[in-house]
Amino acid sequence: MSEKVFNPFEMAQSQLDEAAELLQLDPAVHELLRWPLRELHVTLPVKMDDGTTRIFHGFRVQYNDSRGPTKGGLRFHSGETIDTVRALAAWMTWKTAVVDIPLGGGKGGVICDPKSLSPGELERLSRAYIRQVGRILGLEKDVPAPDVYTTPQIMAWMADEFAFMQGYNEFGMITGKPLALGGSAGRGDATARGGMYCLREASKALNIDLAGATTAIQGYGNAGSFAHKLGEEFFGLKVVAVSDSRGGIYNPNGLDFKQVSAHKAKTGSVINFPGAQFVTNEELLELDVTVLIPAALENVINEGNAARIKAKFVAELANGPTTPEADRILHDKGAYVIPDFLCNAGGVTVSYFEMVQNAYDYYWEEADVHQRLDKKMTAAFWNVHKMAQERNVHNRLAAYLVAVGRVAEAVRLRGWA
Ligand code: NAD
Repeated sequence: MSEKVFNPFEMAQSQLDEAAELLQLDPAVHELLRWPLRELHVTLPVKMDDGTTRIFHGFRVQYNDSRGPTKGGLRFHSGETIDTVRALAAWMTWKTAVVDIPLGGGKGGVICDPKSLSPGELERLSRAYIRQVGRILGLEKDVPAPDVYTTPQIMAWMADEFAFMQGYNEFGMITGKPLALGGSAGRGDATARGGMYCLREASKALNIDLAGATTAIQGYGNAGSFAHKLGEEFFGLKVVAVSDSRGGIYNPNGLDFKQVSAHKAKTGSVINFPGAQFVTNEELLELDVTVLIPAALENVINEGNAARIKAKFVAELANGPTTPEADRILHDKGAYVIPDFLCNAGGVTVSYFEMVQNAYDYYWEEADVHQRLDKKMTAAFWNVHKMAQERNVHNRLAAYLVAVGRVAEAVRLRGWA
């Protein structure tokens, strides 16, 4: 019999179902929240450097806008599927609700391997995406941002293409832009920073000192590499292992952020870092560390390996890294999971600050951004932590209870169900 293929959207729906039952949600509200309100599938012809034209396929899913315009990143990934985008859009809906910002959830993506495209091809693909999807985007409608393999430069091309379509600049139609084009101070490291604020509060809740705590980080892009930097700065975490798509490195004496990031910048990967031994991405997750930070892709902690995870804290910067079966195993083992849509909500929170600054055309100091982010993340963390204690459920379910409760209230008040 062939193994069942992991479907992230089915996982997102089953997580919601569990929360809906505990919340005793009205069946119509529950059914409404199980599905995206709208989705757009697009076909994108792009002129390649060799003169040929290649056809790419992309998506934009607007999952739920009952609390405000939909918001969510864009992925450029060869493994992108509509169900991945749907799941990520659902999680964005719960994420904006759990940190209580006035936005809904959306997500987008293009099936492509951006590493194989030249800068010119990448620019033409980014502009082609906006020419098709731009008609449903806008500050008041739906606002994309960077996600896996998309960057501030890509956001800049997209904002520029949209400006030509509209006939004027509307910088707030996309976030994660470079500072010179209406970006926000503090957006670059916001996802990891928000996660570190959560980790700080979790260490207070459990009364565990994080100074020198051994840490493993899977994924070394925006989320993972800034977690390394800020984890060292904030608490003196001892990061013993990090990885990227090519594999991982391990050194029990610790890996220095500046040296590892310089090595990755030079060679394109963390592997072959001097003085460290190679570990696979699977081995990294099972290392005997205090803090584990998944910061790459979905479904990495599952029924197959959850029992072997040794970390006390699992701070999920990636979206969807842990399956429902693994959640139960980790909870029974006493691991403290800071669930994805809480832990990685710093990115969308500062993206929201970016939209506010764009709307007012008035920009804040970086220290202001950090302070406001800290306030939002800390409040959200304790709401979820208290919910978990009160209802005696694991943290992800508690986060669902907080977030789904808020979205359901908006849906009811609007008279949708
Ligand atoms: P990124 O493109 O900056 O980096 C992705 C990293 O993951 C790279 O280091 C890549 O080498 C690595 N990677 C890819 N495939 C891998 C694999 N199979 N095993 C191990 N590593 C692998 O992306 P990012 O923005 O850092 O996003 C990482 C995760 O964080 C994603 O789940 C994303 O949805 C989530 N996230 C990002 C943001 C944000 O603001 N960037 C916000 C919230 C959540």
